[in-house]
Amino acid sequence: MKNIRLTALLLLSPFLGLLADNDYHYTVDIAHINNDKVHVKLTPPDISANETVFMFPAMVPGTYEVYNFGRFIENFKAEGKNGQVITIQKLDNNSYKLSPAGAISEISYDVNDTWDTEIKEKVVFEPGGTNIEDGKAIAMNTHGFFGYFKNMTAANFLIHVIKPEGFYASTGLTGLKSGKTEDDISVFDYHDLVDSPILYCQPDTTTIHIGNSQVLVSAYSPNHIVSSKFIARNLSELLMAQSEYLGGELPVDKYAFLFYFIDKPTLSGMTGALEHSYSSFYVLGEGDTSDIAQEVRDVAAHEFFHIVTPLSIHAEEIGNFDFNNPKMSMHLWLYEGLTEYAAHHVQVKSGLIDYSDFFQVMTDKMENARKNYNDTVPFTMMSKYVLDKYKKEYPNVYEKGALIGMCLDIMLRYYSNGEYGTQELMKDLAKKYGKRKSFKDEDLFNDIEKLTYPEIGTFLRTYVGGNKPLPFKDVFNMVGMTYIDKQVVKKITLGGISVGFNPSTNRLVVASTEKLDDFGKKLKFQEGDELVSFNGRKLTLDNIKEIFSNYFNNAKPKDKLEIEVLRKDKKGNEVMKTLKAKVKPVNVTEYDVIDVNKAATEKQVKARRAWLGIK
Ligand SMILES: [Zn+2]
Repeated sequence: MKNIRLTALLLLSPFLGLLADNDYHYTVDIAHINNDKVHVKLTPPDISANETVFMFPAMVPGTYEVYNFGRFIENFKAEGKNGQVITIQKLDNNSYKLSPAGAISEISYDVNDTWDTEIKEKVVFEPGGTNIEDGKAIAMNTHGFFGYFKNMTAANFLIHVIKPEGFYASTGLTGLKSGKTEDDISVFDYHDLVDSPILYCQPDTTTIHIGNSQVLVSAYSPNHIVSSKFIARNLSELLMAQSEYLGGELPVDKYAFLFYFIDKPTLSGMTGALEHSYSSFYVLGEGDTSDIAQEVRDVAAHEFFHIVTPLSIHAEEIGNFDFNNPKMSMHLWLYEGLTEYAAHHVQVKSGLIDYSDFFQVMTDKMENARKNYNDTVPFTMMSKYVLDKYKKEYPNVYEKGALIGMCLDIMLRYYSNGEYGTQELMKDLAKKYGKRKSFKDEDLFNDIEKLTYPEIGTFLRTYVGGNKPLPFKDVFNMVGMTYIDKQVVKKITLGGISVGFNPSTNRLVVASTEKLDDFGKKLKFQEGDELVSFNGRKLTLDNIKEIFSNYFNNAKPKDKLEIEVLRKDKKGNEVMKTLKAKVKPVNVTEYDVIDVNKAATEKQVKARRAWLGIK
């Protein structure tokens, strides 16, 4: 056997040099970092054309923003075989025209990172950017490190990484061979490469097993405040619920949560995450762990659900994403909206949060959508032109987009007698399309209608493709609930003050009197007043909640109210004042009031139970 193989090899060897090499061979050196810059070399695949264009992406999927990653590339060079000169012409921020293309033996350049760049225009949202911290950690969002030749994204990418000893590559990629000071990574094509961020650092990883899936949690926390174990503990319950929600099994064999915690503010002023098919990359503040737990759960629930859409359900614009001339799809309501809805719906359905929390999230979204965005722009048009004309409307995908998801879910539960909801619809759509099969933008509404009910088609065309505000009243009625957009009620208040907390005195303080109501005016609150006692009871951190809820529940009109406050006089001395007034209900405007309709029909109750489990 051995001999036979040897003979075959010997026979083949004279021809090996003639075989075409269609792979990209990259070498990146993160062991020798100079001034936050990493040196990258590329032996290109064979190119038959006379000239070619080498490009870095202008934009990548999921960011909905053109960042021009070529801006962070320096010292771009191309060497020719046998000393031939390669002419380089820089075409724009991202592209270099090279000729003669067939003679290129090596391309090399330095990558500067986006997280602490001098370039202050169009700051890259950190989860989609790059960070290079010598000896500490590398946020290797691959699109910031590796480019491609025009029209040649469908080739293998073989990446050789030279790394400091002890560094580990956390990634959702399966084609990784890890060594002591060198790694070899093999990726199917450029789309998969961009889809696969890598976090390089001293390892702090924990693996969770959910069904047959392996979930890697990797954390870089510069001051060792947050550990992967802590995050994994917080995520496993949620992931179990998400797996249940998706039908009992996670649709991926391997998934990686990559967490990069930071101990200073980001350049963009934002923190958050970016989703990929087999991983998500998080940039979050390394703050107090109790805050982080909820933040991590909320963001992770959203990012993880992106494995459904757009990753398995998407339009051609996303499936054949053009990195340098991106076209937008009309269906951000689906990719971001339904994902955001599912991230909260899964939590209430599995009992991780209660109903009032869920409705609070939904009514906050109603308020944000109403206050901050234009409701007369059809959502499909906003989505199509989100890179330019409707850029400012983009965050509404997390507000109105999620509400579209909620309406759709409720309607489906109603028309199907509880049997079918967005959970089932997403599964059916993922089956019909898939990771490598896109839909046509203009067909989606019809396709959904064919899978469901004519009323759903009408809803999508009227309220998502049209300019009508969402019909919350009719929709909530389907699940036996009442919805009132705005009502004025008489209520007992605390005078309409905004309350803050003074940690040095441990007292509540009147932070603002801007919205003082008639009762508050009678009490004569002033900004800066520190609350000392309430109807004779001294206020402490322990009893504040009890005292106030007792007041709101039991106070009656004309009851006496006395509040002692400490107030600074003109000289800055603190003086105790007693504010007195008789309790007087005032008019309060309430928005988005949702309640259970006790007279609901059996069909409505059935739909409600299927939707949320409420009886
Ligand atoms: Zn998202």
